[in-house]
Amino acid sequence: HQRPGRVARVDRGVCTVLGADGPVRATLGAAVLAAAARDLTRLPCAGDWVLLHTWPDGPVTVEAVLPRRTALVRRTAGKDASGQVLAANLDAAAVVEPVHPEPDVARIERLLALAHFSGATPLVVLTKADLAADPAAIARQFAGVAPGVPVLPVSAERGVGLDPLRAHVVPGRTLALLGPSGAGKSSLVNALAGAVVMPTQAIRRVDGKGRHTTTWRALVPIPGGGAVLDTPGVRAVGLLDGAVGLDRAFADITELATDCRYADCAHDAEPGCAVRDALAAGELTARRYDSWRKLQREVVFETRRRETRL
Ligand code: GDP
Ligand code: ZN
Repeated sequence: HQRPGRVARVDRGVCTVLGADGPVRATLGAAVLAAAARDLTRLPCAGDWVLLHTWPDGPVTVEAVLPRRTALVRRTAGKDASGQVLAANLDAAAVVEPVHPEPDVARIERLLALAHFSGATPLVVLTKADLAADPAAIARQFAGVAPGVPVLPVSAERGVGLDPLRAHVVPGRTLALLGPSGAGKSSLVNALAGAVVMPTQAIRRVDGKGRHTTTWRALVPIPGGGAVLDTPGVRAVGLLDGAVGLDRAFADITELATDCRYADCAHDAEPGCAVRDALAAGELTARRYDSWRKLQREVVFETRRRETRL
């Protein structure tokens, strides 16, 4: 008989699926393998709801991956441009960046585009706020980097600033965390859970697994309700999929561009370019403009490549 479950993680084609009777290990069924052969995004990933089948002689297989509400998609570097789904069915996607040492603004912008594109509610979480002289000033400084997106300075260590995040970790909801190793994601989850549900870097090091062993961390149910999805390999998300996320992550520039003289303005050297005008007037920083152009080129490049393939 078939029963539903939620994928906690996938390791070399073997899924750990959380079901009514606890976690089970399941391999991929024939129908899932056939679908994945045509389209890699059909492979199950952390956060997916699936149907499991138990065979008479014991093994369990994933028979179907149910339609995703939202998905975090990374562009694959190889010749297959279909992309890879990193996480599915997330309600909120938090870009996690430590305020200390220097926060990486370009990384926030890039991951935010990904978060917007996922369909989930985007957030920016600035961790280790206790190490900053003035956390509120930092949040203000980042408001321009994340237009329309809440910027939440938090300290897991001191238990400060966590309340706005708690609303995203309630029964039936999944919060995904996107950010580099060492950003304080595990500490944050533990602070939210009020218990050690994810080993932090210090514990992981004692385990002898080192800081790069992140693949086993994925969907973590939180006592009291909700779940957190820690997205592995986020460092490798160098590429974007879809211009929609970029338009939203750079909503300020998207808005400026509506005033360009030409509808197909490349915002480069065209006359009457409202984006370049804002740049010259100091309303748009050169740093943000450059960051946007760089990400835009990636998307344009990818679109062209897809067209050539067809
Ligand atoms: P992860 O790799 O993103 O899961 O990061 P961890 O949660 O393992 O944290 C990485 C390091 O940052 C650890 O040494 C933590 O003790 C430290 N850390 C995490 N949160 C805070 C915080 O709020 N304040 C300070 N000062 N350090 C923190
Ligand atoms: Zn323009």
